[in-house]
Amino acid sequence: MVTKGYAALSAESHLAPFQFERRAPGRRDVQIAIEFCGICHSDIHFARNEWGTTIFPCVPGHEIVGRAVKVGDDVKRVKVGQRVAVGCFVNSCGTCASCKEGHENYCETGFTMTYGSPSPDGKTQTFGGYSNQIVVDEHFVLNLPANLDPAGAAPLLCAGITTYSPLRHVGVTKGSRVAVMGLGGLGHMAVKLAASFGAEVTMLSRSPGKKADAHKLGAHDFVLTKDNNALAPLANRFDVIVDTISAKHDINGPLGCLKRDGTLILVGASPQTLDLSPFALIFGRRKVMGSLVGGIPQTQEMLDHCGTHGITSDIEITTPQEINEAYERTLRGDVKYRFVVDCTKF
Ligand code: NAP
Ligand code: ZN
Repeated sequence: MVTKGYAALSAESHLAPFQFERRAPGRRDVQIAIEFCGICHSDIHFARNEWGTTIFPCVPGHEIVGRAVKVGDDVKRVKVGQRVAVGCFVNSCGTCASCKEGHENYCETGFTMTYGSPSPDGKTQTFGGYSNQIVVDEHFVLNLPANLDPAGAAPLLCAGITTYSPLRHVGVTKGSRVAVMGLGGLGHMAVKLAASFGAEVTMLSRSPGKKADAHKLGAHDFVLTKDNNALAPLANRFDVIVDTISAKHDINGPLGCLKRDGTLILVGASPQTLDLSPFALIFGRRKVMGSLVGGIPQTQEMLDHCGTHGITSDIEITTPQEINEAYERTLRGDVKYRFVVDCTKF
């Protein structure tokens, strides 16, 4: 099926209109007319080959909301006309221990990313949500709660689940003290979600202009990390720190802000290696963990939680034609707090 999208043709080129073929829906597939797709900082890392793994042409986009327009004969749950969502991956082996436990995101043979993976037929690669339609196996299609604004809900499919999953994993609950580093797409969802679990949230940001927003999003405290010795009063304070920063930065100072046995959750994926001082962990038996999006059952749980609590992302809607400008503005921190592409305009 001829599909219209936007692609990066090389690491140096701007994204430009790009037509490509999608498979016709098979028996287990759902064909989705895409309405909205968020712009994640990972899309920028990928389009510019900052992680060194991009296959070009690259059609990014893994925060997808749309309507099912056709379903295969074996599709049971999704009905034509239903509003649905797709996140960061569209296939996995289904048989390894991680897949069997619903952690398809940690598939031991490697999952198929929504974009930038070899496609199952081996002939081409997967193309993502900066496009007008997508075909996805029903297992990887999520139900979107009807009360959520579809544009605001799109970023839940990556920014939402990437922060929800590790916060749940480490048991954040009422009264937990959580700090969030970096107020961008992931950071603002981390604040909203941790606050919805009843945590006391502190925003650690380099941007003084974001203070009022941090409080509106649910943070109880805001600390400007650029100030000399800003972290000193926070020593031994937090149970958990969620680090969403997209570039090289110091983590040893923030580690000192954890309580004994506290955990720094690294979700930001700096292309440059971070420096870790052993002493930052040894004193206080502190931990650093990484986390990659979330499995399908937990993504549905997250969407249902957001439906119950009326949580969506704070967004600015943009058009396909303005994606390159949206990338530049995201890099400048000039968006509150996620761009979402109107995919009906391709
Ligand atoms: P974003 O919207 O650009 O936000 C990143 C924030 O980090 C900025 O708003 C800024 O916040 C802070 N920041 C940026 N550069 C910095 C620097 N040089 N020093 C200090 N702070 C800096 O990005 P995003 O979409 O939230 O994504 C964040 C990172 O998570 C990216 O690397 C992305 O690839 C990664 N990611 C990982 C996963 C996963 O599964 N682990 C999933 C999605 C995304 P302040 O102005 O408040 O300081
Ligand atoms: Zn993402």
